[in-house]
Amino acid sequence: MNSDVKQEILKRRTFAIISHPDAGKTTLTEKLLLFGGAIRAAGTVKGKKTGKFAKSDWMEIEKQRGISVTSSVLQFDYDGYRVNILDTPGHQDFSEDTYRTLMAVDSAVMVIDAAKGIESQTIKLFKVCRMRGIPIFTFINKLDRQGKEPLELIEEIEEVLEIQAYPMNWPIGMEKEFYGIYDRFHQRIEQFRADESDRFLPLDENGELAVDHPMKETSYYTQAMDDIRLLDEAGNPFSEEDILRGELTPVFFGSALTNFGVQTFLETYLQFAPAPQPRSTDEEQLIDPMEHEDFSGFIFKIQANMNPAHRDRIAFVRIVSGKFERGMNVTLARTGKTFKVTQSTQFLAETRETVDEAVAGDIIGLYDTGTYQIGDTVVGGKKIFQFEKLPQFTPELFVKVSPKNVMKSKQFHKGILQLVQEGAIQYYKTLHTEEIILGAVGQLQFEVFEHRMKNEYNVEVVMQPIGSKIARWIKNEEDVKESMSSSRSMLVKDRFGKLVFLFENDFALRWFSEKNEHIQLYSLL
Ligand code: GDP
Repeated sequence: MNSDVKQEILKRRTFAIISHPDAGKTTLTEKLLLFGGAIRAAGTVKGKKTGKFAKSDWMEIEKQRGISVTSSVLQFDYDGYRVNILDTPGHQDFSEDTYRTLMAVDSAVMVIDAAKGIESQTIKLFKVCRMRGIPIFTFINKLDRQGKEPLELIEEIEEVLEIQAYPMNWPIGMEKEFYGIYDRFHQRIEQFRADESDRFLPLDENGELAVDHPMKETSYYTQAMDDIRLLDEAGNPFSEEDILRGELTPVFFGSALTNFGVQTFLETYLQFAPAPQPRSTDEEQLIDPMEHEDFSGFIFKIQANMNPAHRDRIAFVRIVSGKFERGMNVTLARTGKTFKVTQSTQFLAETRETVDEAVAGDIIGLYDTGTYQIGDTVVGGKKIFQFEKLPQFTPELFVKVSPKNVMKSKQFHKGILQLVQEGAIQYYKTLHTEEIILGAVGQLQFEVFEHRMKNEYNVEVVMQPIGSKIARWIKNEEDVKESMSSSRSMLVKDRFGKLVFLFENDFALRWFSEKNEHIQLYSLL
């Protein structure tokens, strides 16, 4: 295959940052972009805190709330690599898009707040990464403040997330007496708030600080040295293979806000993170970017109404193989239709620009007039195939929905159908009354749904929250009787006609399982 394209592909590192809100994801992203020269000043990634809106806040609803609804893609060059960061929104902005973005990356960076440890949203996102078996790199943030003991944090990662951890560096002190980090991997000490000239201090052959320094006299230094000896003897061994298999997470301590440890993290991350990985087709054939010459990719997200004046939609494509060139012919595998792609964009920190060329690992946006669906495959060559289906995720929040004006029932159903197909929301029906229930993983999906129904389909909807539920599908549907359902275990059908129980809470689920042992329940991701 064309060796220039191959070289370009090998330079790509495509990842997402996963974390619980406030752990410091935005701050870390900004620092990474600063190193890459992609932005000029910190505070420009998200408008939330500065009151300015970043250009990636396209939708009206984003402007109203001052948040970034959809994951944007940031690209920069560093040290010969081309880095693509796919942002995953958190908190109320959390949605199925957040999960699906993780399908489009080759590795993930997990940011943890040193004072809080592992939090709920981190667990959810981590699970999706773990299911894919992608490498996960951990950055423990806010070392400039009082936090948990480092050993406790490592233990928490291993116990809560069930992944082995390998500390790449180790903090010496904390908060006001934070001296720096002992870099096990590079065998040096990186000083906190030091000048460029004395940022790194050497170690002697015993692994002790090789120069005179006041920190050497402190109990923090002694403690750190004791911990490191313990890690050397009883901790996990470093294994690049285990990292790449997603079974061992390299852990870095640092502070994004003070820009401490970020550059070392970035450089080490780039060294070990995988280049674009092969993807499986629905016939279990691997499409390897190092072998498959033709362009191919899959759509992991569709964003509508980026520009309300034009009502355009953009389909986000993760390129799996080959090279994309503007003006090329591509075939949509689902329909077999071939067309010329003339409008394509790529995403930079501050702008959207027309993209002329992109290769495997990159994300491009294709203008969409209703052609694409989530999970679609686009191919450039003669060989037509379909990538493996994207997983469906178990929703946790539910509302009953109906049109405000019954005369609009036709548009109502058309709108719902399209938004469901697009993957914006999930759809269920009660058994006899056929009431429509919408399911989502985050509240924002409902707000976006309501907004789009009004703006794109001209239908006002009434939404009646029925709260959070635990949804469980059923392996042996034939054994289910309607009498098993109750107000605490509602029986509905999903959009494929499959039966689903919506349990009010954990207790209701357990009670049901005890009473109906023969019913085999399962959850999606
Ligand atoms: P996100 O919600 O994960 O994107 O978190 P942000 O990056 O917005 O950070 C949340 C808060 O933590 C902000 O007030 C940041 O200034 C602060 N923060 C981020 N990194 C650090 C750090 O290293 N040290 C300290 N002390 N604060 C930090």
